[in-house]
Amino acid sequence: MEKIQMVDLKGQYLKIKSAIDEAINDCIESAAFINGPQVKTFAGDLAAYLDVPHVIPCANGTDALQIAMMALDLNRGDEVIVPSFTYVATAEVIGLLGLTPVMVDVDPVSFNITADIIKAAISPKTKAIVPVHLFGQCADMEAIMKVAKEHNLYVIEDTAQALGADYHFADGQVMKAGTIGDIGCTSFFPSKNLGCYGDGGALYTRNKVLAEKISMIANHGQVKKYVHKYIGVNSRLDSIQAAILTIKLKHLDEYATAREKAATYYDEQLKGLEGITTPFRVANSTHVFHQYTLQVATDKRDELKKYLESQGIPAMIYYPVPLNEQEAFLEIGRVHGDLTVTERLCKSVLSLPIHTEMTQVQQDFIVGKIKDFLKN
Ligand SMILES: *Cc1c(COP(=O)(O)O)cnc(C)c1O
Repeated sequence: MEKIQMVDLKGQYLKIKSAIDEAINDCIESAAFINGPQVKTFAGDLAAYLDVPHVIPCANGTDALQIAMMALDLNRGDEVIVPSFTYVATAEVIGLLGLTPVMVDVDPVSFNITADIIKAAISPKTKAIVPVHLFGQCADMEAIMKVAKEHNLYVIEDTAQALGADYHFADGQVMKAGTIGDIGCTSFFPSKNLGCYGDGGALYTRNKVLAEKISMIANHGQVKKYVHKYIGVNSRLDSIQAAILTIKLKHLDEYATAREKAATYYDEQLKGLEGITTPFRVANSTHVFHQYTLQVATDKRDELKKYLESQGIPAMIYYPVPLNEQEAFLEIGRVHGDLTVTERLCKSVLSLPIHTEMTQVQQDFIVGKIKDFLKN
């Protein structure tokens, strides 16, 4: 049996090696390392995949979130509602720009923020909401968009973990994660569902004016060479990364299917075990399983993690500490309501290895070890 890893990037590469090697070589031969034609091609392909008119690549997912906040009319002291149960980047950029992250609890089923939680946290200073489609499953965007409309709030979707997930509206309409709010942000960090071989990110929007502003901000606020309209940043996707992503994008749906298949197998094998809850799936979103996250009895979680590691099985805690308890946010953030679910999740979640190269033999081994642990 192959060594078990949280993600198997090497194995995934080997299956598309010749195409990737050729694309990288072409890039080097052409020496168009920055803003090469590969970047435009990838942006066009991703726009077509997502069915969204504007895709603006950038250097990483954190930059995408920051550029999104900079492109919207937000001012110092304005409040932005974020889940407390997420990766730090979501809220970090809010603080960096002098805005106030308002950290709220999440739904125990989807692990995402909901319209009701958002509604309760809205104040006269609230200007934006950042739903995070955590672990690969969409937040309830239809209800969230309704609240946003009622209160005139911007919606920035953090879809770093859910690229490719489908959101289903009540009337049957289907839209890709990240294309429903004002701006969608994603990351191509190697371990993400569409990962490049370094850092990368992108923003998407349906709004042409916003798209132009985003492009300018990502490029020094530049209208044309040496004419700068906004204070911007220097945030680009390298040509080599774009070339790699163009190839991998063609496999994204097949990658999602492989993750989903592995998740379903875990579900079947682990269902009903005392002390373990398998991930819930909501009805109005597909799940692209960036993570396969169990909830484990809080008194057993850390021991199980240690035991699995001792057996050669990596397992990770995403995330061990609620954002509002992080020192960086103590002074600048505001907490709304009680964060009971977030606190419980931080003590109970455990993500198992899941990736596109997972074998049933590996999964049987993992499941067997979990069962062994629970018996003792
Ligand atoms: C990975 C991630 C980011 C940041 O992406 P980077 O490319 O690493 O900057 C932001 N939000 C979430 C939820 C993420 O998982």
